[in-house]
Amino acid sequence: MKNRLEKPIYVTRPSMPDYEEYMEQIKPLWDSHALTNMAEYHGRLERELGRYLQTEKLSLMTNGHMALEMALQSLGLSGEVITTPFTFISTTHAIVRNNLTPVFCDIDGRDFTMDAAKLEALISKRTCAIVPVHVYGRICNVEKIEEIAKRHGLKVIYDAAHAFGVTYKGKPAVSYGDMSTLSFHATKVFHTVEGGAVVYRDDETGSELYSLKNFGIRSEECTDGVGANAKMDELRAAMGLCNLRNVEADIARRKILFETYLERLEGTAGLTLPFVQKDVKSNYAYFPVLFDEEVLGIGRDDVYEELKKRNIYARKYFYPLASDAECYRNVYSSSATPVAKRVAESVLTLPMYADLERQEVVLICENIREIIGQGGKK
Ligand SMILES: *Cc1c(COP(=O)(O)O)cnc(C)c1O
Repeated sequence: MKNRLEKPIYVTRPSMPDYEEYMEQIKPLWDSHALTNMAEYHGRLERELGRYLQTEKLSLMTNGHMALEMALQSLGLSGEVITTPFTFISTTHAIVRNNLTPVFCDIDGRDFTMDAAKLEALISKRTCAIVPVHVYGRICNVEKIEEIAKRHGLKVIYDAAHAFGVTYKGKPAVSYGDMSTLSFHATKVFHTVEGGAVVYRDDETGSELYSLKNFGIRSEECTDGVGANAKMDELRAAMGLCNLRNVEADIARRKILFETYLERLEGTAGLTLPFVQKDVKSNYAYFPVLFDEEVLGIGRDDVYEELKKRNIYARKYFYPLASDAECYRNVYSSSATPVAKRVAESVLTLPMYADLERQEVVLICENIREIIGQGGKK
């Protein structure tokens, strides 16, 4: 194994703010003792994120999963929710944990978001909402989805966990639909260690979310909702304030890595490389590649194992499909979503994070070309 790397490269690595800067940021908490319950940094981060994402209607949450749960709960839905199985299991769980029934729509073979052409056939009398996912930060077919939703009186809640900072036609991804949810998990483009947010449209929903994330407490003596505890604390809000200062620079670094991958892997038969959609400003969150076993003679799983032997850790993201998870597979069949099934079986996301070195990307690409027997060209 001549190319085995000395130091492992993992699929992702959280960005860290400057240590001193974070310490300065949290120092006042030792005077105030105000550690949580929507204190100063909570409000400040909501405002600063609102400015960055061009919306003042944003409610911080303890994580992206609870953002989804709280968003769905705030709408008081019941019945079926159309979503896709090509997502992180959180999307499906949030629907089920709201006593709603997921109905899986297949994905588009090019961008892997919900195939809007297959959406309408899945709408029934019980359908109440659509939860599409901006997978890898790629924008769903928002025009078509929202036109169908409007015609059938359905809510649209986008899982925008991958789409922080992404814009479509000059508007932020989170400005589409009735609501959008974000994840600020440590592995995401922008993070607060754990965290998330719901972007909503009207003040009534805002006050509902505020109450729901705090046990459903409306006022000191009134609890009128069955809420959860989904509050973000001050230490993590402080982390967010620091990280937000670096996010543009991080995205710029990711762009260089993304372009390096493309440059080094382009023209390789049997690989389907990612791309930036038309009218989209990307955040370069992931670098997903499809490995076509019929062309390559080697499958995704073998490429994954070979890379691992060389100290390069890619990820089968997303595999298995949500509908194939042990807790759902007795109810659903992934053969109903053949495109999602094929993509899940052939995709690998390659290492991508802001402080990955350009030279490391070059090495990863050399190893991939060698593994699939197309080395030496670049
Ligand atoms: C990360 C993620 C979530 C969940 O967010 P957490 O902050 O980890 O709870 C939900 N959906 C998608 C698509 C994600 O990638």
